[in-house]
Amino acid sequence: MFVDVKLKTPKLKNPLHHCEFPELEYLKPVLITDEKGFQHEYPVMFCRCKSEACTLVELGLWPATPTKPVMAFTFGLMELVEKMFLVAKVSVQQCCASLPGFSKFPIAHRPIEIYRNMLDAFEEFRHFRFDLRALKDICPERDGENICPACPKDCNNFLAGNALRSNQRFAGLDETGIFGRACRHEFPKAFVNLKHGERISYAVWLINDMVSKAKEKNMSYNVLYDISCILHRHLQNSAEFSDILAHINLAIPIFHVYGHKAQCQIMYSPRRVEGCGLTDGEVMERLWSYLRGFASITKEMSPSRRIDALTDCLLHYGRQSKSKLGERLKRRMVRAMELQKTAIETFNEMVNSIPGFDIAQIDTWLNDEKEYFSHKNTVNEGQLVGPLEEWKEKYFVKLQRYYCLRDESVLQGSGDYSVAEETCNK
Ligand SMILES: [Zn+2]
Ligand SMILES: [Zn+2]
Ligand SMILES: [Zn+2]
Repeated sequence: MFVDVKLKTPKLKNPLHHCEFPELEYLKPVLITDEKGFQHEYPVMFCRCKSEACTLVELGLWPATPTKPVMAFTFGLMELVEKMFLVAKVSVQQCCASLPGFSKFPIAHRPIEIYRNMLDAFEEFRHFRFDLRALKDICPERDGENICPACPKDCNNFLAGNALRSNQRFAGLDETGIFGRACRHEFPKAFVNLKHGERISYAVWLINDMVSKAKEKNMSYNVLYDISCILHRHLQNSAEFSDILAHINLAIPIFHVYGHKAQCQIMYSPRRVEGCGLTDGEVMERLWSYLRGFASITKEMSPSRRIDALTDCLLHYGRQSKSKLGERLKRRMVRAMELQKTAIETFNEMVNSIPGFDIAQIDTWLNDEKEYFSHKNTVNEGQLVGPLEEWKEKYFVKLQRYYCLRDESVLQGSGDYSVAEETCNK
Protein backbone atom coordinates (compact mmCIF):
# COMPACT_ATOMS: atom_id res chain seq x y z
CA MET A 1 0.00 0.00 0.00
CA PHE A 2 1.18 3.50 -0.73
CA VAL A 3 0.84 6.11 2.01
CA ASP A 4 1.25 9.78 1.15
CA VAL A 5 3.47 11.20 3.87
CA LYS A 6 4.68 14.80 4.01
CA LEU A 7 8.09 14.98 5.68
CA LYS A 8 9.49 18.23 6.94
CA THR A 9 12.53 18.87 4.81
CA PRO A 10 15.47 20.86 6.15
CA LYS A 11 16.21 24.18 4.49
CA LEU A 12 19.21 24.42 2.20
CA LYS A 13 21.67 27.20 2.90
CA ASN A 14 24.87 27.99 1.06
CA PRO A 15 27.65 27.51 3.65
CA LEU A 16 30.03 29.61 1.54
CA HIS A 17 27.86 32.71 1.61
CA HIS A 18 28.37 34.85 4.71
CA CYS A 19 26.42 37.99 4.12
CA GLU A 20 26.92 41.22 6.05
CA PHE A 21 23.23 41.96 5.62
CA PRO A 22 21.11 39.06 6.90
CA GLU A 23 17.98 41.08 6.14
CA LEU A 24 18.65 40.46 2.43
CA GLU A 25 18.11 36.71 2.84
CA TYR A 26 14.83 35.02 1.94
CA LEU A 27 13.47 31.47 1.69
CA LYS A 28 12.01 30.06 -1.52
CA PRO A 29 10.88 26.50 -2.28
CA VAL A 30 12.72 24.72 -5.10
CA LEU A 31 11.72 21.35 -6.52
CA ILE A 32 14.88 19.24 -6.73
CA THR A 33 15.26 16.06 -8.80
CA ASP A 34 18.15 13.73 -8.05
CA GLU A 35 20.00 11.18 -10.21
CA LYS A 36 17.47 8.47 -9.39
CA GLY A 37 14.57 10.62 -10.49
CA PHE A 38 13.25 11.22 -6.97
CA GLN A 39 11.88 14.65 -6.25
CA HIS A 40 11.80 16.73 -3.10
CA GLU A 41 10.73 20.28 -2.55
CA TYR A 42 13.33 22.04 -0.42
CA PRO A 43 13.16 25.52 1.06
CA VAL A 44 16.34 27.19 -0.19
CA MET A 45 17.87 30.22 1.52
CA PHE A 46 18.72 32.80 -1.14
CA CYS A 47 20.26 36.21 -0.72
CA ARG A 48 19.43 39.33 -2.73
CA CYS A 49 23.14 40.06 -3.19
CA LYS A 50 23.59 36.93 -5.30
CA SER A 51 21.61 35.48 -8.22
CA GLU A 52 19.42 32.49 -7.40
CA ALA A 53 21.06 30.42 -10.14
CA CYS A 54 24.53 31.01 -8.66
CA THR A 55 23.35 30.05 -5.18
CA LEU A 56 21.91 26.81 -6.53
CA VAL A 57 25.13 25.97 -8.41
CA GLU A 58 27.12 26.55 -5.21
CA LEU A 59 24.78 24.08 -3.52
CA GLY A 60 25.61 21.48 -6.18
CA LEU A 61 22.32 21.97 -8.05
CA TRP A 62 21.77 22.92 -11.67
CA PRO A 63 18.85 25.36 -12.08
CA ALA A 64 16.23 24.56 -14.73
CA THR A 65 16.14 28.25 -15.73
CA PRO A 66 18.80 30.93 -15.31
CA THR A 67 16.33 33.41 -13.78
CA LYS A 68 13.80 32.78 -11.00
CA PRO A 69 14.35 29.00 -10.89
CA VAL A 70 11.66 26.94 -9.18
CA MET A 71 13.15 23.63 -10.31
CA ALA A 72 16.69 22.29 -10.08
CA PHE A 73 18.58 19.07 -10.79
CA THR A 74 21.48 17.60 -8.88
CA PHE A 75 24.88 17.67 -10.63
CA GLY A 76 24.82 13.88 -10.40
CA LEU A 77 21.67 13.80 -12.54
CA MET A 78 23.09 16.27 -15.07
CA GLU A 79 26.30 14.24 -15.38
CA LEU A 80 24.30 11.04 -15.79
CA VAL A 81 22.20 12.57 -18.59
CA GLU A 82 25.38 13.87 -20.24
CA LYS A 83 27.02 10.42 -20.14
CA MET A 84 23.85 8.71 -21.36
CA PHE A 85 23.62 11.17 -24.25
CA LEU A 86 27.26 11.34 -25.38
CA VAL A 87 28.38 7.79 -24.65
CA ALA A 88 25.24 5.62 -24.76
CA LYS A 89 23.52 7.84 -27.40
CA VAL A 90 20.24 7.93 -25.48
CA SER A 91 18.01 10.97 -26.02
CA VAL A 92 17.29 13.30 -23.09
CA GLN A 93 13.63 12.31 -23.23
CA GLN A 94 14.37 8.58 -22.97
CA CYS A 95 16.96 9.19 -20.29
CA CYS A 96 14.49 11.18 -18.15
CA ALA A 97 11.79 8.56 -18.66
CA SER A 98 14.06 5.70 -17.60
CA LEU A 99 15.05 7.16 -14.21
CA PRO A 100 13.76 4.76 -11.53
CA GLY A 101 11.82 7.54 -9.75
CA PHE A 102 9.63 7.96 -12.83
CA SER A 103 8.48 4.39 -13.15
CA LYS A 104 8.50 2.97 -9.62
CA PHE A 105 5.44 4.68 -8.21
CA PRO A 106 1.71 4.68 -8.99
CA ILE A 107 0.75 7.42 -11.46
CA ALA A 108 -0.72 9.67 -8.72
CA HIS A 109 2.58 9.70 -6.86
CA ARG A 110 4.95 9.93 -9.77
CA PRO A 111 7.35 12.88 -9.89
CA ILE A 112 6.54 15.88 -12.08
CA GLU A 113 7.80 15.45 -15.65
CA ILE A 114 11.22 17.05 -15.97
CA TYR A 115 11.92 16.50 -19.68
CA ARG A 116 10.74 19.90 -20.95
CA ASN A 117 12.61 21.76 -18.20
CA MET A 118 15.63 19.53 -18.63
CA LEU A 119 16.04 20.26 -22.36
CA ASP A 120 17.31 23.85 -22.14
CA ALA A 121 19.03 23.25 -18.83
CA PHE A 122 20.96 20.31 -20.31
CA GLU A 123 22.18 22.43 -23.23
CA GLU A 124 23.39 25.15 -20.86
CA PHE A 125 25.00 22.48 -18.67
CA ARG A 126 27.01 21.08 -21.61
CA HIS A 127 28.14 24.59 -22.48
CA PHE A 128 29.15 25.16 -18.86
CA ARG A 129 31.08 21.87 -18.79
CA PHE A 130 32.88 22.84 -22.00
CA ASP A 131 34.06 26.11 -20.40
CA LEU A 132 35.00 24.27 -17.25
CA ARG A 133 37.08 21.66 -19.07
CA ALA A 134 38.75 24.23 -21.32
CA LEU A 135 39.56 26.50 -18.31
CA LYS A 136 39.79 29.45 -20.68
CA ASP A 137 38.68 31.92 -17.99
CA ILE A 138 41.60 30.97 -15.78
CA CYS A 139 44.23 30.41 -18.44
CA PRO A 140 43.38 31.95 -21.85
CA GLU A 141 46.56 30.63 -23.53
CA ARG A 142 45.76 27.04 -22.59
CA ASP A 143 45.04 24.71 -25.53
CA GLY A 144 41.32 24.25 -25.70
CA GLU A 145 39.20 21.14 -25.98
CA ASN A 146 39.16 21.57 -29.73
CA ILE A 147 42.88 21.28 -30.48
CA CYS A 148 44.64 18.10 -31.49
CA PRO A 149 47.82 17.95 -29.41
CA ALA A 150 49.64 15.87 -32.02
CA CYS A 151 49.00 18.11 -35.05
CA PRO A 152 51.37 20.96 -35.95
CA LYS A 153 50.44 24.15 -34.10
CA ASP A 154 49.79 25.99 -37.37
CA CYS A 155 47.16 23.51 -38.39
CA ASN A 156 43.72 25.10 -38.09
CA ASN A 157 41.47 23.41 -35.60
CA PHE A 158 37.93 22.47 -34.90
CA LEU A 159 35.78 25.49 -34.07
CA ALA A 160 33.81 25.08 -30.92
CA GLY A 161 32.41 27.13 -28.14
CA ASN A 162 30.75 30.38 -29.10
CA ALA A 163 32.19 30.31 -32.58
CA LEU A 164 30.15 27.30 -33.55
CA ARG A 165 27.33 27.25 -31.08
CA SER A 166 24.26 28.29 -32.90
CA ASN A 167 21.97 31.20 -32.40
CA GLN A 168 19.05 30.25 -34.59
CA ARG A 169 21.34 31.14 -37.49
CA PHE A 170 20.23 28.16 -39.53
CA ALA A 171 16.56 28.36 -38.75
CA GLY A 172 14.34 27.38 -41.64
CA LEU A 173 16.98 25.55 -43.65
CA ASP A 174 16.91 21.81 -44.14
CA GLU A 175 20.06 19.86 -43.56
CA THR A 176 20.47 16.46 -45.11
CA GLY A 177 23.61 15.47 -43.20
CA ILE A 178 27.07 16.63 -42.26
CA PHE A 179 30.38 16.52 -44.09
CA GLY A 180 33.73 17.00 -42.46
CA ARG A 181 37.35 16.26 -42.00
CA ALA A 182 39.51 14.85 -39.21
CA CYS A 183 43.26 14.49 -38.73
CA ARG A 184 45.17 11.19 -38.74
CA HIS A 185 45.11 11.27 -34.92
CA GLU A 186 41.34 10.64 -35.01
CA PHE A 187 40.56 14.21 -34.00
CA PRO A 188 37.58 16.03 -35.61
CA LYS A 189 38.71 19.18 -37.44
CA ALA A 190 35.99 20.92 -39.43
CA PHE A 191 32.38 20.18 -40.34
CA VAL A 192 29.71 21.65 -42.59
CA ASN A 193 26.01 21.02 -42.92
CA LEU A 194 24.95 19.34 -46.12
CA LYS A 195 22.04 20.93 -47.93
CA HIS A 196 22.19 18.86 -51.11
CA GLY A 197 23.65 15.45 -50.32
CA GLU A 198 27.37 14.78 -50.73
CA ARG A 199 28.81 16.88 -53.52
CA ILE A 200 32.37 17.39 -54.66
CA SER A 201 32.05 21.12 -53.88
CA TYR A 202 31.91 20.39 -50.14
CA ALA A 203 35.25 18.60 -50.31
CA VAL A 204 36.75 21.43 -52.39
CA TRP A 205 35.46 24.02 -49.92
CA LEU A 206 36.85 22.16 -46.90
CA ILE A 207 40.27 21.65 -48.48
CA ASN A 208 40.43 25.26 -49.69
CA ASP A 209 39.46 26.44 -46.21
CA MET A 210 42.17 24.27 -44.67
CA VAL A 211 44.89 25.40 -47.07
CA SER A 212 43.98 29.09 -47.03
CA LYS A 213 43.78 29.26 -43.23
CA ALA A 214 47.16 27.60 -42.68
CA LYS A 215 49.45 30.18 -41.12
CA GLU A 216 52.49 28.39 -42.47
CA LYS A 217 51.92 28.84 -46.20
CA ASN A 218 54.44 26.30 -47.42
CA MET A 219 52.89 23.49 -45.40
CA SER A 220 51.65 20.60 -47.50
CA TYR A 221 48.84 18.22 -46.61
CA ASN A 222 48.05 14.62 -47.41
CA VAL A 223 44.33 14.44 -48.06
CA LEU A 224 42.59 11.06 -48.02
CA TYR A 225 39.13 11.11 -49.57
CA ASP A 226 36.94 8.29 -50.87
CA ILE A 227 36.84 9.73 -54.40
CA SER A 228 40.18 11.49 -54.61
CA CYS A 229 40.51 10.47 -58.25
CA ILE A 230 37.39 12.46 -59.19
CA LEU A 231 38.39 15.30 -56.89
CA HIS A 232 41.84 15.44 -58.50
CA ARG A 233 40.40 15.83 -61.98
CA HIS A 234 37.86 18.34 -60.72
CA LEU A 235 40.64 20.49 -59.22
CA GLN A 236 42.82 20.19 -62.34
CA ASN A 237 39.96 21.46 -64.45
CA SER A 238 38.94 24.21 -62.05
CA ALA A 239 40.31 27.66 -62.80
CA GLU A 240 39.49 28.92 -59.31
CA PHE A 241 40.90 26.10 -57.21
CA SER A 242 43.65 24.48 -59.29
CA ASP A 243 46.38 26.15 -57.14
CA ILE A 244 45.22 24.06 -54.16
CA LEU A 245 46.93 21.07 -55.79
CA ALA A 246 50.32 22.63 -55.01
CA HIS A 247 49.58 22.23 -51.30
CA ILE A 248 48.02 18.78 -51.17
CA ASN A 249 48.82 15.17 -52.03
CA LEU A 250 45.66 13.21 -52.71
CA ALA A 251 45.11 9.61 -51.66
CA ILE A 252 42.18 7.25 -51.20
CA PRO A 253 41.60 5.50 -47.83
CA ILE A 254 43.11 2.03 -47.76
CA PHE A 255 39.86 0.00 -47.77
CA HIS A 256 38.11 2.27 -50.26
CA VAL A 257 40.96 2.21 -52.75
CA TYR A 258 40.32 -1.47 -53.60
CA GLY A 259 36.96 -0.46 -55.00
CA HIS A 260 38.71 1.71 -57.59
CA LYS A 261 40.31 0.57 -60.82
CA ALA A 262 43.98 -0.41 -61.00
CA GLN A 263 45.11 3.01 -62.17
CA CYS A 264 43.54 4.72 -59.13
CA GLN A 265 45.12 2.12 -56.86
CA ILE A 266 48.54 2.95 -58.24
CA MET A 267 48.07 6.70 -58.15
CA TYR A 268 46.17 7.09 -54.89
CA SER A 269 46.87 4.16 -52.59
CA PRO A 270 48.11 5.53 -49.25
CA ARG A 271 50.93 2.99 -49.44
CA ARG A 272 52.23 4.73 -52.55
CA VAL A 273 51.65 8.38 -51.64
CA GLU A 274 54.69 9.81 -49.90
CA GLY A 275 54.16 10.78 -46.26
CA CYS A 276 51.05 8.64 -45.70
CA GLY A 277 53.08 5.88 -44.07
CA LEU A 278 50.79 3.22 -42.63
CA THR A 279 47.85 5.63 -42.19
CA ASP A 280 44.70 3.85 -43.28
CA GLY A 281 42.72 7.06 -43.86
CA GLU A 282 39.56 5.51 -42.47
CA VAL A 283 39.35 8.01 -39.58
CA MET A 284 36.10 9.42 -40.88
CA GLU A 285 34.50 5.97 -41.13
CA ARG A 286 35.17 5.43 -37.44
CA LEU A 287 33.86 8.89 -36.64
CA TRP A 288 30.68 8.31 -38.67
CA SER A 289 30.07 5.03 -36.89
CA TYR A 290 30.03 6.98 -33.61
CA LEU A 291 27.88 9.81 -34.98
CA ARG A 292 25.41 7.50 -36.72
CA GLY A 293 23.88 6.68 -33.32
CA PHE A 294 22.75 10.30 -33.03
CA ALA A 295 20.89 10.39 -36.34
CA SER A 296 17.55 9.40 -34.87
CA ILE A 297 17.99 11.78 -31.91
CA THR A 298 19.05 14.84 -33.90
CA LYS A 299 16.62 14.51 -36.80
CA GLU A 300 13.75 15.74 -34.63
CA MET A 301 15.73 18.69 -33.30
CA SER A 302 15.58 22.30 -34.44
CA PRO A 303 18.61 23.23 -36.61
CA SER A 304 20.27 25.24 -33.83
CA ARG A 305 19.82 22.51 -31.22
CA ARG A 306 21.11 19.94 -33.69
CA ILE A 307 24.30 21.92 -34.30
CA ASP A 308 24.91 22.29 -30.58
CA ALA A 309 24.28 18.60 -29.95
CA LEU A 310 26.59 17.51 -32.78
CA THR A 311 29.25 19.97 -31.62
CA ASP A 312 29.20 18.36 -28.19
CA CYS A 313 29.31 14.88 -29.71
CA LEU A 314 32.38 15.83 -31.76
CA LEU A 315 34.04 17.43 -28.76
CA HIS A 316 33.39 14.25 -26.79
CA TYR A 317 34.86 12.16 -29.60
CA GLY A 318 37.93 14.44 -29.65
CA ARG A 319 38.32 14.13 -25.88
CA GLN A 320 38.17 10.33 -26.13
CA SER A 321 40.73 10.35 -28.95
CA LYS A 322 42.99 12.66 -26.99
CA SER A 323 42.89 10.42 -23.92
CA LYS A 324 43.96 7.40 -25.99
CA LEU A 325 46.48 9.28 -28.15
CA GLY A 326 49.66 8.41 -26.25
CA GLU A 327 48.88 4.72 -26.13
CA ARG A 328 47.74 4.71 -29.78
CA LEU A 329 50.86 6.46 -31.08
CA LYS A 330 53.06 4.03 -29.15
CA ARG A 331 51.16 1.01 -30.54
CA ARG A 332 51.41 2.35 -34.08
CA MET A 333 55.12 3.06 -33.72
CA VAL A 334 55.81 -0.50 -32.49
CA ARG A 335 53.74 -1.91 -35.34
CA ALA A 336 55.51 0.26 -37.93
CA MET A 337 58.94 -0.79 -36.69
CA GLU A 338 58.00 -4.48 -36.70
CA LEU A 339 56.55 -4.19 -40.17
CA GLN A 340 59.59 -2.37 -41.49
CA LYS A 341 61.89 -5.05 -40.08
CA THR A 342 59.87 -7.90 -41.61
CA ALA A 343 59.56 -6.07 -44.93
CA ILE A 344 63.32 -5.49 -45.21
CA GLU A 345 64.09 -9.10 -44.27
CA THR A 346 61.58 -10.57 -46.72
CA PHE A 347 62.69 -8.20 -49.45
CA ASN A 348 66.39 -9.05 -49.03
CA GLU A 349 65.58 -12.77 -48.98
CA MET A 350 63.63 -12.45 -52.19
CA VAL A 351 66.27 -10.33 -53.96
CA ASN A 352 69.06 -12.69 -52.93
CA SER A 353 67.17 -15.65 -54.37
CA ILE A 354 67.27 -14.06 -57.85
CA PRO A 355 70.74 -14.49 -59.34
CA GLY A 356 72.28 -11.39 -60.88
CA PHE A 357 69.48 -9.06 -59.87
CA ASP A 358 70.32 -5.35 -59.68
CA ILE A 359 68.49 -3.50 -56.90
CA ALA A 360 68.65 -0.21 -58.81
CA GLN A 361 66.31 -1.78 -61.31
CA ILE A 362 63.43 -1.43 -58.85
CA ASP A 363 63.84 2.33 -58.74
CA THR A 364 63.73 2.36 -62.53
CA TRP A 365 60.51 0.36 -62.51
CA LEU A 366 58.95 2.67 -59.95
CA ASN A 367 59.97 5.72 -61.96
CA ASP A 368 58.65 4.16 -65.16
CA GLU A 369 55.33 3.45 -63.51
CA LYS A 370 55.05 6.99 -62.13
CA GLU A 371 56.08 8.47 -65.46
CA TYR A 372 53.51 6.37 -67.32
CA PHE A 373 50.60 7.41 -65.12
CA SER A 374 51.55 11.06 -64.72
CA HIS A 375 51.96 11.22 -68.49
CA LYS A 376 48.55 9.65 -68.85
CA ASN A 377 47.09 12.22 -66.50
CA THR A 378 48.39 15.33 -68.17
CA VAL A 379 48.81 14.60 -71.85
CA ASN A 380 46.09 12.10 -72.61
CA GLU A 381 43.39 13.58 -70.43
CA GLY A 382 40.73 12.36 -72.84
CA GLN A 383 42.19 8.87 -72.85
CA LEU A 384 42.26 8.77 -69.04
CA VAL A 385 38.57 9.52 -68.82
CA GLY A 386 37.80 6.40 -70.78
CA PRO A 387 34.28 5.12 -71.44
CA LEU A 388 34.19 3.14 -68.15
CA GLU A 389 35.37 6.03 -65.97
CA GLU A 390 32.98 8.42 -67.71
CA TRP A 391 30.14 5.95 -67.13
CA LYS A 392 31.07 5.71 -63.46
CA GLU A 393 31.23 9.45 -63.11
CA LYS A 394 27.83 9.88 -64.77
CA TYR A 395 26.41 7.15 -62.55
CA PHE A 396 27.82 8.89 -59.47
CA VAL A 397 26.34 12.27 -60.44
CA LYS A 398 22.96 10.69 -61.23
CA LEU A 399 22.95 8.79 -57.97
CA GLN A 400 23.64 12.00 -56.04
CA ARG A 401 20.86 13.76 -57.94
CA TYR A 402 18.52 10.87 -57.21
CA TYR A 403 19.24 11.00 -53.46
CA CYS A 404 18.75 14.75 -53.50
CA LEU A 405 15.37 14.54 -55.20
CA ARG A 406 14.30 11.63 -53.02
CA ASP A 407 15.21 13.56 -49.87
CA GLU A 408 13.34 16.59 -51.16
CA SER A 409 10.21 14.55 -51.86
CA VAL A 410 10.42 12.93 -48.42
CA LEU A 411 10.79 16.36 -46.81
CA GLN A 412 7.78 17.63 -48.71
CA GLY A 413 5.92 14.68 -47.25
CA SER A 414 4.90 13.13 -50.57
CA GLY A 415 7.17 10.07 -50.20
CA ASP A 416 6.70 9.68 -53.94
CA TYR A 417 9.98 8.64 -55.57
CA SER A 418 8.57 8.28 -59.06
CA VAL A 419 9.40 11.90 -59.99
CA ALA A 420 12.98 11.42 -58.81
CA GLU A 421 13.31 8.14 -60.67
CA GLU A 422 11.89 9.65 -63.85
CA THR A 423 14.24 12.64 -63.68
CA CYS A 424 17.23 10.37 -63.19
CA ASN A 425 16.23 8.11 -66.06
CA LYS A 426 16.38 11.02 -68.46
ZN1 LIG B 1 24.23 38.27 0.64
ZN1 LIG C 1 45.98 15.63 -35.16
ZN1 LIG D 1 39.11 6.12 -58.72
